Amino acid sequence: MVREQFAFIEQRPGCRVEVQNDSLLTVIAYILADLTFEVILEWRDMYASAMVGRTMGGGRPPGHLVHFGLRVRYHLSDLLPTEAEASRSGTAPVTKRQRTRRTTQAAASNTNSAELLDRMAEPIAALAAALAESFDGVCAKARRGFAESEEHRTLNPPPVPPHACPGLVGLLEDFDSLIQYNPVLREIQHWRSPTKSITLTKCPACGKDLPRSLRSDLHGAMTEVPPDAVGVRRLPDEMHNDEWWRRRGL
Ligand SMILES: [Zn+2]
Repeated sequence: MVREQFAFIEQRPGCRVEVQNDSLLTVIAYILADLTFEVILEWRDMYASAMVGRTMGGGRPPGHLVHFGLRVRYHLSDLLPTEAEASRSGTAPVTKRQRTRRTTQAAASNTNSAELLDRMAEPIAALAAALAESFDGVCAKARRGFAESEEHRTLNPPPVPPHACPGLVGLLEDFDSLIQYNPVLREIQHWRSPTKSITLTKCPACGKDLPRSLRSDLHGAMTEVPPDAVGVRRLPDEMHNDEWWRRRGL
């Protein structure tokens, strides 16, 4: 049913569709050359929403909205024309109902998936209609936002890892690369899916051994941090970047 509603994206040249099914969440991703549309169905809350992301490494972007300082996704609702924009261009304004895509009934635990999908039909149709109506405008807004974010990151380059051969620096600076440096953990991470990464032990560019990950050291250092009034240990400022391990000579 979702595939029918969003066929207007699927029919675009070069579109690839990926479906991710978890017990409470289904994501249908439409991957185009530079943009990826994700239709997200949350079964527990009976909630349908959509995200517009950058296509990275030929697939869905990692992370959530911002990943390592780079904007990688927008909520579709943020890209739809506002009522003022819609009245200027003469298209019908997006109604409140289209923006609020929650069904009235919460999912009962004993309903089967066909019934669940049936109840999601209306919010999915509203979402598809809103996107179809403003598709070109949504794409243009998303592209502008991603380009701005690239400019911003060029002016504020990401931290340089201890091993920084030209090949690796090139990968880290490439906006579409799924290779990222996490300075807190001193890890070069290769993102394999939006939520899963593996930590590389050898440089992906030149093959040299990389310095070891400081994940367990960080956990150790955290135990020295005194808990706050409610008993939670919060990451001190120096541990939000590479300062903590450089200072300890690790
Ligand atoms: Zn290297």
